[in-house]
Amino acid sequence: MSDRHITRRVRGVDTSDGAGVRLKRVIGQPELDMLDPFLLLDEFRSDQAGDYIAGFPEHPHRGFETVTYMLAGHMQHQDNHGNHGDLGPGSVQWMTAGRGILHSEMPQQENGLMWGFQLWVNLPAKDKMTAPRYQDIAPQRIPVVHPAAGVEVKLIAGELAGATGPVEGIVTAPLYLDIGLQPGAALTLDLPDGHHGFAYVFEGESVLVGGEKLARGQLGVLSERGRLQLAGGEQPVRLLVVAGRPLEEPVTRYGPFVMNTPAEIHDAIADFRAGKF
Ligand code: MN
Repeated sequence: MSDRHITRRVRGVDTSDGAGVRLKRVIGQPELDMLDPFLLLDEFRSDQAGDYIAGFPEHPHRGFETVTYMLAGHMQHQDNHGNHGDLGPGSVQWMTAGRGILHSEMPQQENGLMWGFQLWVNLPAKDKMTAPRYQDIAPQRIPVVHPAAGVEVKLIAGELAGATGPVEGIVTAPLYLDIGLQPGAALTLDLPDGHHGFAYVFEGESVLVGGEKLARGQLGVLSERGRLQLAGGEQPVRLLVVAGRPLEEPVTRYGPFVMNTPAEIHDAIADFRAGKF
């Protein structure tokens, strides 16, 4: 079987969200509207407080999952069901918004580096109105595996080298890896056939993905079948590799609501205004 290769490359576009947090939107922008089941990928990275201090005050979500992975800095999460959690360096929050929550994500620092990712993962029609659920994962619960010389992988979701990531029970059966490769190191990954996936380089210079160079700040969309071959460049490099089962359902999105039909979006807005979240 042939290996996976890069079918498209995109760079994030500068934008802001929340109350004015500056970020790069990599998925969910004109060049890459979505990559079923992934609806959005943001990278936020700044050591200028003005870029993040306003945070993400209370806002709703319905119909999908938000996944926050912090590399540096602290955010606090709070919602209208009484849940709250501290998102510190290396931690992950996998939030299944389901039928609806109102939450805020606010910085807990006034200076220093704030760096991380938010990924949106769609839910199938049958699960869009499920009860909200959180998986708050401290960094020490994330296995660090060394499947080959010079390779270090933080296994957030999925299975690798006999280890299993801590995120459980996600309908799209995701793989979410933070991979560090030393110069000259190589790694072959078995991704489930048919899973859609991407690689996004966030530290270092470049990595070879299926033999082709992918530079820092580039996202490579992967072809759908076969193994994924990665090889380090001349500098240590770090990248995300994320894959999930596509839903192949109609998508209607309106800001923080992602449903299957316009009528369901109207219901989401009406329910939100009626205080039903
Ligand atoms: Mn949110």
